[in-house]
Parts: sequence; structure tokens; C-alpha cells
Amino acid sequence: MQADAAPKPTDDAPPWAVPAPDPAAFCHPDTVAILAGRRTGGPELAPTLHPATTFRLPSLPDSRRMALDPTESRYYTRNGNPTVAAFEEAMAELEGAEASRAYASGMGAVSGVVLGLCSAGDHIVAQRQLYSGTQFLLQAVCPRFGIEVTFVDGTEPGAFAAAVQPGRTMLVWAESPANPRLELVDLEALGAIVGPLTVVDATFAPPSITRPLDYGVDLSLHSATKGIGGHNDATLGVVSGSAELIASLWGFAVLQGANAAPFDAMNGLRGLRTLGVRLERQSATAQQAAEALVEHPGVAAVRYPGLACHPQHELAKRQMRLFGGLLTFDLAGGHPAGERFVDAVRLAQIAPSLGGPETLVSHSASTTHAGLTPEELETAGIGAGTIRVSVGLEHGDDVVADLLQAVDAA
Ligand code: PLP
Repeated sequence: MQADAAPKPTDDAPPWAVPAPDPAAFCHPDTVAILAGRRTGGPELAPTLHPATTFRLPSLPDSRRMALDPTESRYYTRNGNPTVAAFEEAMAELEGAEASRAYASGMGAVSGVVLGLCSAGDHIVAQRQLYSGTQFLLQAVCPRFGIEVTFVDGTEPGAFAAAVQPGRTMLVWAESPANPRLELVDLEALGAIVGPLTVVDATFAPPSITRPLDYGVDLSLHSATKGIGGHNDATLGVVSGSAELIASLWGFAVLQGANAAPFDAMNGLRGLRTLGVRLERQSATAQQAAEALVEHPGVAAVRYPGLACHPQHELAKRQMRLFGGLLTFDLAGGHPAGERFVDAVRLAQIAPSLGGPETLVSHSASTTHAGLTPEELETAGIGAGTIRVSVGLEHGDDVVADLLQAVDAA
């Protein structure tokens, strides 16, 4: 431990107020993930659940101040909550941000940013390769509120910047790696865009893999329901950035009412403690699976940023510390093969989420992207044989053997 990382209790502090090691004294994200979010808590090593919806107020002047303070966590839980604040503090420390705001889900965070920052007449530039919920919000809901959205190919150099309308574009929205085909966005180029605010949904690359703010991006967003929570037991979203930007999201967030539940924030904090080791294991198994699948004659194409044949492998090496636990492949047999594959898996389970301990497979056209038209599916590169795998924490050999036998059977 570094010398300045273990502050001593002060004389006037209560005996239980044992200071925690300071995460800022350590630079490795896996260490920060274990130390983060403990500044305002007591000596408990596990997160403390504060289920209270409301708190006793000291006086009316305090009440007026607390009601309007975006950092106040003991006024009313829709505004802020101590357990949620600990999760937010941990996320800010991990992201290298000044502040974070947690939401009731990833989509709560997405809609909170879009509708919290944009008004009628504003313009958004977004990539075409997006999680379907975000795509529907941008494509179908934004126009109802007079917000225009231009979709671009996020993998094409300069496409985001070229679509910006100076003075009118409020947001540039990226997702990297994108759901489900794992296309990457060049974060350095995105962070260099001047004028609009830049946002990256980095759900597929939690902070110990990539930190978008390091590249000059304004806001980093996660569905913490996925790898950050990591156990399929928390529905949670989080946005991180400057204190000013997070405070500017707060007013709409309180009205939107998609605040994170304290229980989910507690599970989010629990998930963070093992984030580093989980991602190491999942990335190693996903690499092993991708290398095996790419050789299989029943597989037409494999998308995994860690494969040398991934079209953006060099970019992945520059901006991802690990390549993550998600991989997508296209079965050569198309429609019947996709259904036969999901019927044949024995260890992997069919479910529409990702980032948890269990290996999950999803047939993208029937799950995450089921609401898209055939044309939209084609544009998104999703075919009848497209399978997304979220590699779990089982032994890598078992996972790979299961996927290969299911491809054999497809
Ligand atoms: N962003 C991405 C990239 C996702 O994959 C998802 C869900 O799968 C979301 C956002 C939405 O997250 P949630 O399901 O927590 O609302």
C-alpha cells in the first residue's frame, strides 16, 4: 500500500469512523473498483442498504437548501439516497469523473440524458449501430418532441463530425462496442468533436476495460444491469461526467422519476468489487470461444474485438484493456440453423441479457432486436443466423465445448 493511502482516524471522530484507503492513491482500475464508494460510509466492508424513502430534516432553511441540492442524499430518495450515492461515488471514481448519477435502468439513463438535455428544435447525431431500445427512443420518441436525429455509420472515420450542425446539434451519441455486432467507435476522434456534448454508451466495456472520459468524451453511460452489477440481480443505469453536467441532468431526473432503487445500487456496489476478475475470466473465455468458432465450417463469421480478423482490431487494442465477454457470430445455415443452435445448447442458457455469471446466448432477431423491421435488421447486420453470446464465469473449456457441439447440431 502507498504511504498516503491509509489515513488515520482523527481524535474527534467516533471510534467506528475508520477511514478507508483512498482509491485516488491507486491507478489500477481493478484496485479502484474494490476501494471506491466508501468515503461517506462507516467501517462496514459490505455496502449498507438505506431503504428509507424520506429523511428527517433539521430546519426549514436546511430543507430549502437540501431540496435543491443535486448532491444531497438524505432528503427524499427520488432526489438522492445514501446507498445510491455510494454507488454513484464509486462509479465516478472508477470512470475518472467528477460525478455520476444512477438511474433505475440503462434505459432510464439513456432517456434521462436525451430528454434531460435536449429540447424541441435540437439535433442529435447518433450511430446506426445501437442497442434497440436506444434506437427506438431516438428514432420514434425524439421526433414526437421536435428533436431531430441523424443516424451515421459509427465505424466510418469522420462520420459523426461531418453530421454535426453547428449551433443546433446538442448531442453526439455513440455506443462502443455496439450491441450486438461489436462495432467500435474511435473514442479519440469522438472526444475531439467541438460544440455538441459527446456521449458513449460503454455498457459492453465497463470502466476497467475502457474509460470514455479519458478520451475527452463528455458523458460515459452504462446499463449497470449488465457487467457492472454482474449477477443478474440489479436493474440499474449510470451516467458519469463533470459535476456541472451531472448536476444539469439532476433536475429532469428527479421529475423523470427513474431513480435507482437502493437495493439495486447496493447490488451494483457488490458487483463492482469483483468486476476486474470477472472481466478477465470472461474475456479469456470469449477469446478462446471466438478462436474456436472462427475455424468451424458451420460458422460464416465471428465478431470479437480480440480476433485479429475483426475489422477494428487495431482500434480495439488502442482503446480496450480487455476485449470483453461478448461475441457475436453468424451461422452459415441462416434461419433454421439459428433456431437449431439455441435448441442444442446444454450449458449456455437462452436469455436476453449479458455480463452475468451464466453464459447466455441470444438470437438477436428474436430477442433484443425483435421489434426491428426486416430492412432495419438488414441495416443493423442482423441475420436469421446471428447469435450473440455473453460468456459467463463457467470454466472456459466447458463453455467452448458447449458452443461447438451446438454449432455441430445446427
Ligand atoms: N445500452 C446497451 C448497450 C444495452 O445493451 C442495454 C440493454 O441491453 C441498455 C442500454 C439498456 O439497459 P437496461 O436493460 O438496464 O435498461
